[in-house]
Amino acid sequence: MSKLAICPGSFDPITYGHIDIIQRGARIFDRVIVAVFNNQSKAPLFSVEERIHLIQESVKHLPNVSVDSSDHLLMDYAKEQNADAVIRGLRAVSDFEYEMQITSMNRKLEENIETLFMMTNNQYSFLSSSIVKEVAKYKANVSDLVPEVVEKALKEKYK
Ligand code: ADP
Repeated sequence: MSKLAICPGSFDPITYGHIDIIQRGARIFDRVIVAVFNNQSKAPLFSVEERIHLIQESVKHLPNVSVDSSDHLLMDYAKEQNADAVIRGLRAVSDFEYEMQITSMNRKLEENIETLFMMTNNQYSFLSSSIVKEVAKYKANVSDLVPEVVEKALKEKYK
C-alpha cells in the first residue's frame, strides 16, 4: 500500500534545512505533503499563500511532493489526509524537548499516525527561518540558506 507522510511547519519562509528534510522524506515515502500551518503567535512575515508559492517553487524537482495548508489541528489534518506518518526535522538538542512534548500529545490524539524525526544535514543544523529573516533584514547574503526564489521574495519584503 502506498505510504503518505506529512511535513508540517510554518515555513516562514522555507529554507534549505526544510528542503533537506522534505527530500529525505520523499525518498522513503511514496507521497509527501508539505503542509503550512498558520501559527499566528509567530506573527508571520509571509502570508500562507506566499509561503505555499515559495514551497511549490522550491520542491518542484520532487514529483511525489505536494503542498497544502490547513488551519486544523495537525493530527486532525493528518487523519483527514489518511497519512501514515508525520515527519519533523531535528536540528539540535534544543529542538528535542519541545518536539517530545508535542509528539506525546499527538500520539495521544492519534495513536495510529507515527511521528518520525529526521536529523538534518550538518551544514543546516544552525539554520532556521527566523535566522534567515534576521540576516535578510540587514541585507546580508542568504544565498547559501534559501533557494533563489525565496531570496528574491525576502529582498522584496525588506526593500
Ligand atoms: P514550526 O513552527 O512547526 O517549528 P518550522 O517551519 O520552523 O515550523 O519547521 C518545520 C519543520 O522543519 C520542523 O520539523 C523543524 O524542526 C524542521 N526544520 C526547520 N529548520 C530545519 C533545519 N535547518 N534542519 C532540519 N529541520 C528543520
